[in-house]
Parts: sequence; C-alpha cells; structure tokens
Amino acid sequence: MKKCSDFVLKMDESVTLAAANRAKELKAQGRDIIDLTLGQPDFPTPKKIGEAAIAAIENGKASFYTQAGGLPELKTAVQGYWQRFYGYEIDKKEILITTGAKFALYTYFMATLDPDDEVIIPAPYWVSYVDQVKMAGGKPVIVKAQQENHFKVTVEQLEAAKTNKTKILLLNSPSNPTGMVYSKEELKHIGEWAVANDLLILADDIYHQLVYNGAEFTAISSLSDKIRERTMVINGASKTYAMTGWRIGVAVGDSEIISAMTKIASQTTSNPTAVAQYAAIEAFSGADEDFKKMHAAFEERLNVIYPKLAEISGFEVVKPSGAFYLFPKVLEAMKIKGYDDVTAFTTAILEEAGVALVTGAGFGAKENVRLSYSTDLETLEEAVRRIKEWMDA
Ligand code: PLP
Repeated sequence: MKKCSDFVLKMDESVTLAAANRAKELKAQGRDIIDLTLGQPDFPTPKKIGEAAIAAIENGKASFYTQAGGLPELKTAVQGYWQRFYGYEIDKKEILITTGAKFALYTYFMATLDPDDEVIIPAPYWVSYVDQVKMAGGKPVIVKAQQENHFKVTVEQLEAAKTNKTKILLLNSPSNPTGMVYSKEELKHIGEWAVANDLLILADDIYHQLVYNGAEFTAISSLSDKIRERTMVINGASKTYAMTGWRIGVAVGDSEIISAMTKIASQTTSNPTAVAQYAAIEAFSGADEDFKKMHAAFEERLNVIYPKLAEISGFEVVKPSGAFYLFPKVLEAMKIKGYDDVTAFTTAILEEAGVALVTGAGFGAKENVRLSYSTDLETLEEAVRRIKEWMDA
C-alpha cells in the first residue's frame, strides 16, 4: 500500500533542520562539533515573560481554549506594538495571532491562492516559502537577487518575472539567509510597482528589530495607504524576544484576508497555546530593555566575525545589516578544495573541520553557505578559525 501522498513524497525536508540533525549525530558519536546551523537566538526568554506565563498557569487562565484568532488582550498588546514600531494604528479585525510566524505564512497562502496562482519569491529565500506556496496549490516563481547587488531584487527583475497569474510578491527584509535590508527608497519603488500591477504584498518582517550599525528597518506597509491596504505583514515574538519555542506569530493586514486566515486557524490549531499567548502579552508590551542587550550582543558578534570570515580564502562576504546570519559565496573556496556542489562542500566542512553550516542550496543559492551568529563570540571565533585552517590546509 502506498502510505504517503505524491505531494509529500516530493516535498523537501528543511535543510536547516537536516544540517542540525547531522551535527547532533556527530556530537552524539563524541565528535567536537560547533553548530552554526540554527536560526534562533541563543538567549533564554527574558525572565518577566516567563513569569507572566507562570502567573497565567497559577491563576488558571492558561487552562482553556482561547479565541481562534488570539486573545483580545494580546491583540491590544499588538496594537501598542504596531503603534511603537510601525507608526500606524490597526484594528483588532486586522490582527491574527498564530502558532509561530511560520503558521501565519501558511494560513496566508491557504487563504489567498487559487490553483496555479503565482507568488514571486526573491532568492536567496527562507527555506519554507517555496514548499508552503506549493502546499497551498500555488506556484513559486523565483527571482534571483545577485550578491553583487547586495542580494536585492530590482523592479526590472520583478517586471520580467510577472505574468497574468502573478498574485503575490513576497518580501523578507531583513532577510534570512542574507541579512540584507532594503532601504526606504527601494521599498517605495517596489511597493509602487506592486500597486501599479495590482499585486498583493506579503512582508515577512520577523527580523525587523534586528538591524545593526545604524541600518534602519523600513516597513513597506508604512509607506502609503495604497501599499498598506494590499500588504499582509508577518511578525512574531520568536526572534526579537528569544521565544522560538513558545510559537507565537502575528499577521496584520486586510480584515477580509485575516478573517479567512482565522477560519483556517480555527479548523487546524483551534488557537495558539494559551500560556504562550499570555507570555507574549508581556513581550509585546515592553520587553524592550531585554531585547536591547541581545541586540548589542548580535551587533558585536557581527562586527567581530565578519572581517575574519571575509579573510578566508575563497569566501566572498557582503556585510549584512540585519538578522543574525552571514551568507558567504564560496564558489572560489569550492574550486580550491575541488568541489562542484555546495552541499558536498558544506558536508566536508562539517566532517573535516567540525563546523556545521547550512548549504545555500535549500535557500535557492547554490554558491553560498549560511552561518548563524546566534552563539557566543568565543565559539564563533573558534568556528571561523577552524574553517580557515581547513581551507589553508
Ligand atoms: N520567517 C523567517 C524569515 C524566518 O527566518 C523564520 C524562522 O526561522 C520564520 C519566518 C518563522 O518564525 P517562527 O519561529 O515564529 O515560526
């Protein structure tokens, strides 16, 4: 009997999780492995957020289902957060709280895509977009942003990719995996193009507060009413408040689409875990001081590690302005070591140098590898030293 569907048999496993699992296997065999694969802050969730969760358990509030779209009190906290970071007011009808930002993205694709509708996804892209679009019956159309152009797509490229089936333009700034941040002018140009072509915009702003060295995040949704009314913003608590395990995401946008997404959430997860929602109220209401400490650590790591990585033979690195990843092009390094496949090259770094990175192949970039700097500086320096030694050998 054929147990699994054709669809799932064709689906890829997340490359980041696959790389992390291989690193864990080697560690379990007693190998000394430095794992730079995972995309999550290495800090514990700030104490007062945890305390809010404990209080919700102790006073019994966390025992029950909540509204499918999220607790009204949490939506109030999100309204305040939006006022502070986006500078515009939102109605509760424009908000959906989800089980992580990943599920917000999935419900959005399910709510908007008809069969074969196209979604323009700039590459390098975060691993899950492509499979999620396919799961919703849509067609991902990849537009390759060049490293020479700091991993930014141009309106000319978007124009060339557009067809009469194009429905959504996806943007992720700051980007996972490149750390690239679009400027206000660039986003205005792209946003106006989307308006002129009557496209929906999906803005994955999950790293919005993680920008460094004076770089500024611009929310495309804040640039004009016309852009805002067609933009669904995805955000969440995971990256900013070191809450990846709590699974709280947020979608903010058109109330009709939000209502459709809420229906999907109600038929799948019922609601995001109640205790995590109570914790998130505290996060969105004012864990900014805790965030500042994490931010300073990320910025220091970036500034120390970037030049060292750029010194390694065959590694070409653009200094990122956001998120917590470096995404060097390793084409020359692969040649030096005799590899023509970036995944095999990444595996060799793991097996021979003891450093786990993620192959760029899963991000739509076959010449790059991703290194996450969400680990302490000493470990990062040792990792880069090992890669350099291996390259020089
Ligand atoms: N979007 C991007 C670009 C991400 O990197 C991630 C997590 O890695 C997510 C969304 C999902 O975030 P969450 O953990 O809240 O589901």
